[in-house]
Amino acid sequence: MTRRIFAAGVVLTALAGAGCKTNRPAVDQEAASTCRCTPDKRCWPSQAEWQAFGTSLHGKLEQPESPQAPCRSDAAGAACASAIKNSKNPLYLQDQVGGTQSNGWLGAWTAATSAYAVVAEDAADIVAAVSFARQRGLRLVIKGTGHDYLGRSNAPDSLLVWTHKMRRVSMHDAFVPRGCPATARSAAVTVEAGTRWIEAYQEVTVKHGRYVQGGGCTTVGAAGGFIQGGGFGSWSKKYGIAAANMLEAEVVTADGSLLVANDCQNQDLFWALRGGGGGTFGIATKVTLRTHPLPGYFGVVDGSIVAKNDAAFKELLERFLLFYRERLSNEHWGEQVRARRNNSLKLSLVFEGMTAKEAEQVWQPLRDWIERRADTLTMKVNYLESFSSKMSPTPSRAIRVPINPRDDFGGRATASRSRRIGMGISRAGCRSSFSKARMRSALLTRCSKRRDTGRSNCISTRAKPGPPPRRCSAVERRR
Ligand SMILES: Cc1cc2nc3c(=O)[nH]c(=O)nc-3n(C[C@H](O)[C@H](O)[C@H](O)COP(=O)(O)OP(=O)(O)OC[C@H]3O[C@@H](n4cnc5c(N)ncnc54)[C@H](O)[C@@H]3O)c2cc1C
Repeated sequence: MTRRIFAAGVVLTALAGAGCKTNRPAVDQEAASTCRCTPDKRCWPSQAEWQAFGTSLHGKLEQPESPQAPCRSDAAGAACASAIKNSKNPLYLQDQVGGTQSNGWLGAWTAATSAYAVVAEDAADIVAAVSFARQRGLRLVIKGTGHDYLGRSNAPDSLLVWTHKMRRVSMHDAFVPRGCPATARSAAVTVEAGTRWIEAYQEVTVKHGRYVQGGGCTTVGAAGGFIQGGGFGSWSKKYGIAAANMLEAEVVTADGSLLVANDCQNQDLFWALRGGGGGTFGIATKVTLRTHPLPGYFGVVDGSIVAKNDAAFKELLERFLLFYRERLSNEHWGEQVRARRNNSLKLSLVFEGMTAKEAEQVWQPLRDWIERRADTLTMKVNYLESFSSKMSPTPSRAIRVPINPRDDFGGRATASRSRRIGMGISRAGCRSSFSKARMRSALLTRCSKRRDTGRSNCISTRAKPGPPPRRCSAVERRR
């Protein structure tokens, strides 16, 4: 779903030179719409300039297309049907430079592909992309997995830094942050910018029998929006949020500098990266996270408590909140309890550091209370199991990570199977949030011709207008 900008300049030669010299709108008109340089403005790099940029990157510059593009030309065709099917598979979408895990959210934004994408393989590629975008006044977007529900990892008319190929993971027995005293050492893992939790867990837990604090959905990125936005996981009550486990980050800042941020240098940047939000302060090229010994046991409770009527349900909710405070609000318990419309509580919980028998004892007071109200309340636990992380010969026997892309992500079969890994990976990949109806709505598009390629650039007519543009600076107005 991409067109590569060949180093030798084969692809775009037909239109080279057509871009920036004709039909230029007046500068004042341009300034009124937006401060960023967009393809319809004369500041937009010409064909030859994009080509030269691609050459400098050894061809790692592409023109992304939406994985749903076939539906624009033939909504009833086989290619469109296949695109819709693939849009349920997060691993497939993440392999596409133009892919996102959602096609929009509550009408607030609509997924759009960038004009060009740097398929980054190392920090130098990211520095080059940031510098080019800064020099040319381009909107810059960063995408690892495209999981961002607020649409921050995609934007039309932008230059994308796509980190998906940067997924090296390396373990350290005694990591010392650069510039820190040797006493600051701890066991750690370094993950490159595009690494997802599935790869981090494979290396840290399956191969090395350690624990790293990540998230429940294994297709979320380990170095991007999750950790930079805080990152809460099943056992964060024990191990802290993911950001609190960050020991060091290598970051490209907006001026194109490659910096190391940790407790001993660039401390303010390090502080900001641990919760300030993905992409707010720079592009992380890699982050190093503390690892922990695995607890002796992991376990899972899955079931429901059903009330016969509204009054009984209200009483149940009151009792359950007390029970939670007394028995579950501690480092051993995580994940979810959902109050549902049919007067039931759905239990989808995980625990650590105790056996199934010990976990059962934790629940006994609530069970006794429910049994005394058997005429109006029923508690059904489908399973309550624990798994020893010390299972021989290696922990990997007890902690298998499902990675089959044909799995029904988020579906029950995968959910129950992946829970067996016993480390908070409660859903294997977590289904992407595409729906057919929303795809149809996203296909209602308005298209305009791009000045550099002559190709159509389409945006949804359903997209709500954004906030009014900020006032441009004098420098921006001159572009
Ligand atoms: C299915 C699902 C399950 C989730 N589960 C949890 C959960 O259990 N706990 C939790 O806390 N959150 C959870 N989240 C929220 C998740 O942490 C955020 O959506 C997060 O922003 C995703 O980050 P990403 O890097 O994977 O996605 P992306 O869409 O690639 O990026 C998200 C943001 O980070 C920026 N970014 C990406 N890479 C970098 C980088 N290398 N350097 C700087 N900025 C970067 C992007 O520009 C964007 O602003 C979940 C989200 C989904 C969709």
